[in-house]
Amino acid sequence: MPFQITTFVLLNAVAGLTSLLLTGLAWQRRSVNGARSLAALSLSVTIWCLSAAVEMAAVSIPEKIFWSKVQYIGVTTAPVLFVLFALEYSRLTRWLSRPRIALYFVIPLLTFTLAATNEWHHLIWANVRPSPDGFNLAVYDHGPAFWALVVGYAYLCNLTASFLLIRAVQRFPKVYRLQFMAFIIAIICPWANSIIYILGFNPLQGMDLTPASFSVFALSMSIAIFRFQFLDLAPFAFETIIETMQDGIVVVDGRGRILDINPSAVHWISPGNPDKNELKGKSLAQINPDLAPLTHTPSQAQWEFTLYQPDPLTLEVRVSPIQNHRKDPLGKIITFHDITLRRQFEEELRAANARLQAQIQENELLQIHLREQAVRDSLTGLHNRRYLEEVLQQSLARAERQQTPLSLVMIDIDQFKSFNDNFGHKAGDAMLVMLSELLIRYVRREDTACRFGGEEFIIVLPGAPIEVAERRAEEWRRAFEHSQLLYNAQTLSTTFSCGVASFPQDGLTVDELIQAADKALYTAKKRGRNCVTRA
Ligand code: GH3
Ligand code: MG
Ligand code: MG
Repeated sequence: MPFQITTFVLLNAVAGLTSLLLTGLAWQRRSVNGARSLAALSLSVTIWCLSAAVEMAAVSIPEKIFWSKVQYIGVTTAPVLFVLFALEYSRLTRWLSRPRIALYFVIPLLTFTLAATNEWHHLIWANVRPSPDGFNLAVYDHGPAFWALVVGYAYLCNLTASFLLIRAVQRFPKVYRLQFMAFIIAIICPWANSIIYILGFNPLQGMDLTPASFSVFALSMSIAIFRFQFLDLAPFAFETIIETMQDGIVVVDGRGRILDINPSAVHWISPGNPDKNELKGKSLAQINPDLAPLTHTPSQAQWEFTLYQPDPLTLEVRVSPIQNHRKDPLGKIITFHDITLRRQFEEELRAANARLQAQIQENELLQIHLREQAVRDSLTGLHNRRYLEEVLQQSLARAERQQTPLSLVMIDIDQFKSFNDNFGHKAGDAMLVMLSELLIRYVRREDTACRFGGEEFIIVLPGAPIEVAERRAEEWRRAFEHSQLLYNAQTLSTTFSCGVASFPQDGLTVDELIQAADKALYTAKKRGRNCVTRA
């Protein structure tokens, strides 16, 4: 079989070998999204280019026609495989079901059959003749089936694939500008070739640039894949993140069976059995009964729960639904986030806070108590002299401001020294307590009763004029006179004397008023005790 090696033969051979190389590289990475279709596409382009090279090298027209037929394996399948690659790369998996893929290949199969049987109908090639431009080229005058099935279908496929890939490329982050460029060049190739072909820019009759353009496409794609790791970077990075992340991730199907699980989740929910593959297909409840509620949980939930394995582990769990495009529930993604330490810290903080609050409260009570102690008499519980002087000062100021009267009653128990002598000091104390209780009972809320010292008491009556104070002192005196103290099986009673003084007539200052009341009290004693005397 005579062959003639021309520049075009070499060009197509180089394109074919480039595509073959790409086929191998893509096949090596077939686990990566889009790589399988790209390998198939490259293989198709390889067949196309190599058979085109042989076609151009062959000298006789029947031989050229035979190799053109072989070329049609690539011509018919490459556009469809381009679409499959775009669909796979865009993850439009529902367009990649087996029946659909079979459907896409109906026209290529029909076209190939027509090409193979062209002698009978001439629908693909109406006439094949040597090119007037030489170079051992042949001119193929095309029949109607070529325009409808080869060109028409190729355009439809290119249009679809370009649309899908441009849509995918738009989502590229800016840092991938070089991948982006390589990708765009790859998409442009088939179009540039078609435009040249249709507009008749072909410099030589019978020269076909299509295989060469496809090899540029293959080259751009391989640069995008291998120089910039265009195909495998994103999925690989995601896989690495999920495999190495500290949060646990479990994907379950509609019935709660595990589809996939990352190492962190395995470690938490099945510490005894770290083999991930053994867990697949089992339900969560089967692996760890603590997880049973997760299977029944409504989607989009978030809560926390504690696992005991053997130390308690607090996990924050999120359940997100997986739905198809019709919103049918397909399964769930469950993520676990370890918040044990956070909860522990929070608990410790809460306890420390509570302790601090208790301490503060205790201190406050102690302070109130101390303040009270400082102004109270320990025997009777009445206010002491210090407090009296303070209160009296304020009450006097107010009386002066408001132009109201204020009275002071000074009480002194009669012959208390002899009472002590007769019945004992303890009985004297009890009598002092009894008088205090009586005073507490009798004085009003706005009045203040104090133990002034020893057996002397002072009652401040703000707003009371001297007549009122005198009358009230008389009431108390009578009540005390008739009070009886039961002490050591004895019934004891005694009396007191009172001196009453009033602001403003008997004095304007605290000292003056106390002095006036004291003087009045002295008078009462002189009058024979057990009586009330005004200043
Ligand atoms: P007079 O009627 O003139 O007031 O006679 P008196 O004995 O009460 O007079 P004096 O002021 O001399 O005596 C006061 C007595 O009160 C002296 C003291 O023994 C007694 N006394 C003072 N404070 C207390 C106390 O806290 N408890 C007891 N049991 N007695 C007290
Ligand atoms: Mg006295
Ligand atoms: Mg006395």
